[in-house]
Amino acid sequence: MSLPQFKLLRPRTVDEAVALLAQYPGNIRVLAGGTDLIPSMRQKLFEPEYVLDLRGVAAVKGIRPSADGGVEIGALASLREIEQSTFLRQHYPVLSEAAATVASPVLRNMGTVGGNICLDTRCLWYNQSLTWRKGCGFCIKKDGDLCHVAPGGTKCWAAFSGDTPPALLCLNAQIEIANAGGTRRIPLHEFYTGLGDNYRTLQPNELVTRVFLPASSAGYRGVYRKLRVRGSIDYPLAGVAVVMKRSNGHIADARVGITAVNPAPLLVKGASEMLAGKTLDEALAEAVGDLAAKTAKPLTTSALTPEYRREMIRVFTKRAVLAAAN
Ligand SMILES: Cc1cc2nc3c(=O)[nH]c(=O)nc-3n(C[C@H](O)[C@H](O)[C@H](O)COP(=O)(O)OP(=O)(O)OC[C@H]3O[C@@H](n4cnc5c(N)ncnc54)[C@H](O)[C@@H]3O)c2cc1C
Ligand code: SF4
Repeated sequence: MSLPQFKLLRPRTVDEAVALLAQYPGNIRVLAGGTDLIPSMRQKLFEPEYVLDLRGVAAVKGIRPSADGGVEIGALASLREIEQSTFLRQHYPVLSEAAATVASPVLRNMGTVGGNICLDTRCLWYNQSLTWRKGCGFCIKKDGDLCHVAPGGTKCWAAFSGDTPPALLCLNAQIEIANAGGTRRIPLHEFYTGLGDNYRTLQPNELVTRVFLPASSAGYRGVYRKLRVRGSIDYPLAGVAVVMKRSNGHIADARVGITAVNPAPLLVKGASEMLAGKTLDEALAEAVGDLAAKTAKPLTTSALTPEYRREMIRVFTKRAVLAAAN
């Protein structure tokens, strides 16, 4: 599959980058590591006239302490940097653990945290070549008007399949978004719409520039568990992140996030309340697993059945909660 023709733009600053986005609205795509964008362009899922290569923009690289005592991660920080950062491993271990499960070492060298947050949603009927999709009559997410997964419906259910966002949600991450008018900072959960096709609130003239982890989330124990077909290199088909702080044998605070089973990564509502102030035992861990499984709404968007993926959310949540407490 050949790449469509495009013009490559290489800004050196965020201002230059957002000016270019504003100049070619709807006809330009941001490239960070390119590990998802380039295969998608080969499949003709995106055929922009311009590709904006962010890799020359130094201001959105690196991992550094932030003014409020937390940490600031440039959108272009590679997943490898996140996996290997001694600071993150020590203070925000759930993020390093989740990053270390993405794809393979080569893809983690190229892939960035910004690209992982912005990752397009995935579906068996969508992540295919143009010829394959044409043969099936296309679908709502691209070029068609029906959904093969939920026929008769008008909604796209493609699954958000990034590994780091559930960990970032558990850490109460915020992201910085830049456009030609300046920057704004939003909690990560506001970034996702819950729709499979129009999955993020980012406008075509905007960039994700930084990720902020607050000091208040530092020091939590963290665990990430992931279901995938090929252990060495694959997207999650179900993923669970858990963070937990303990005090005097009790759980002081905890959060559970899930991915790859809904059109957005989600925090499991009610899990923190269920765990806070309790002494953990098998029954409690199981109850949190049940809650996570109820939050998961997988459909037939991947090679594994929805029933199995939902069940694995239950099992992984229980195991991750127990592991985080030990
Ligand atoms: C074989 C294979 C296996 C994979 N396995 C996994 C996996 O296990 N888990 C996983 O999470 N991912 C997986 N991926 C997907 C991908 O490698 C990662 O998600 C990676 O983090 C994407 O980052 P990137 O910098 O390469 O993004 P890119 O491909 O450059 O961009 C991805 C999307 O985000 C947009 N984008 C990127 N950066 C920004 C920004 N700063 N602001 C606005 N928009 C932006 C791009 O326009 C594009 O739409 C896999 C990919 C392949 C090819
Ligand atoms: S969920 Fe339906 S509309 Fe969305 S990509 Fe899959 S088949 Fe297409």
